[in-house]
Amino acid sequence: MPATDPQFPPAHPFDDDKLHEECGVFGVIGVADAANFVALGMHALQHRGQEAGGIVTHDPETGFNSARRFGYVRDTFTKADVMATLPGSIGIGHVRYSTAGSKGNTAIRDVQPFFGEFAMGGCAVAHNGNITNATALRRELIERGSIFQSSSDSECIIHLMARSIQKNIPERMKDALRRVEGAFSVVAMTRTKLIGVRDALGVRPLVLGKLGDGGWCLSSETCGLDIIGAEFIREIEPGEMVVIGAKGVESFHPFEGRPSRFCIFEHVYFSRPDSILGGRSVYETRRAIGVELAREAPVEADLVCPVPDSGTPAAIGYAAESGIPYGMGIIRNQYMGRTFIEPTEQIRNMGVRLKLNVNRALVRGKRVILVDDSVVRGTTSRKIKDMILDAGAAEVHFRIASPPTAWPCFYGVDTPERSKLLAATMSEEEMRQWIGIDSLKFISLDGLYRAVGESGGRDARAPRYCDACFSGEYPVAPSDMIEKGFQMKAAE
Ligand code: SF4
Repeated sequence: MPATDPQFPPAHPFDDDKLHEECGVFGVIGVADAANFVALGMHALQHRGQEAGGIVTHDPETGFNSARRFGYVRDTFTKADVMATLPGSIGIGHVRYSTAGSKGNTAIRDVQPFFGEFAMGGCAVAHNGNITNATALRRELIERGSIFQSSSDSECIIHLMARSIQKNIPERMKDALRRVEGAFSVVAMTRTKLIGVRDALGVRPLVLGKLGDGGWCLSSETCGLDIIGAEFIREIEPGEMVVIGAKGVESFHPFEGRPSRFCIFEHVYFSRPDSILGGRSVYETRRAIGVELAREAPVEADLVCPVPDSGTPAAIGYAAESGIPYGMGIIRNQYMGRTFIEPTEQIRNMGVRLKLNVNRALVRGKRVILVDDSVVRGTTSRKIKDMILDAGAAEVHFRIASPPTAWPCFYGVDTPERSKLLAATMSEEEMRQWIGIDSLKFISLDGLYRAVGESGGRDARAPRYCDACFSGEYPVAPSDMIEKGFQMKAAE
């Protein structure tokens, strides 16, 4: 069933005004009923992709088994008839938003994990990130005879593995991934091994956990470990491959060593606040962003309100630092999801009101500071401002927990093209006027780096994170996009 079917509308009709993480990956080995653990891990990672999910398991009697479904994990991988088709003690799973170029047109064949049968056995692969040279790779592979089953760039990994002359699957995967540019956190499996790999810059997260006596798991975030009671062991290092099997966890470093450039937006928005990134609680980092924001952009006001839910920790930090009372001026309807009735045009036009409502009694007559995680197109900010003013607020000030998003992401996050990003076309003052608010301030890039633990701010010569969507400085040149005419920022 295509994702464009009315049963599968976007999770929220105005959600194109947020950046979206495109995938989450999870894998487990050494447990009875691996599929149930994988489904729970995927459920914990659902915020990273809601469009579809897939699970592959292996059982000695039945071989490799797979199931792919559209919709939430809780609605699909909880059904006994589905789970009964996935026996085995090893399995991997993937939750998907949608990858570049296929948004809104996803077919079930594009849902990962992908599977390849090689002379030495089968291998399933799930990928979080984006391959920035996928168009060129795909063209080359098709010219050399590869027959693609999907429109997903991630399938290139399977075809590159098929062309390798190495004798075992981990070595073939190393060969394949050395040809791939961009960002990738990969979870893969053979009949007997669970494999995890991060790209040389470690742009996307991947962590290792231990489960009971003999079980191991890999997850995009630590929240995927918590849900199954696994112990967090460590992050997979940038450029590292782990192969988990009968010999335990073996570690390899198949890529040229380079300084890490983890995605700084994972701290701001994508990861769950209860996850740990780089040894830091995501919640605490977001709270620290609010503290920095209050120092950088104070304003006289009566109330600090988060734009729920992602603005909440930063709003708490802003309120604590400024001494201005914190309050829930906007209430989120928790149950607004894909199960909503088929949306008519009239319902779609209600937009943000379907998800958020103003707490009138709290905001009436007050000077309100609204703290949000980001401004992408700005359309939602305008609607929220209207709602707050309609409810009788005296003033509306926006404080944004990330710098202006002025550049698209090519590393696995769904971003509008540059011309659609408000900050790419307007100055801060122009954005303030366009949104129609009393003041608008974004945290500086240095302030954001301080909040994630870099006390000296951003080192312009050697930044520790990927911050390309703010700075325009891409740690890996997006070669496919450059070929299509994308203009990189001129060197200063
Ligand atoms: S461009 Fe932005 S969203 Fe994309 S990886 Fe870099 S920091 Fe993260």
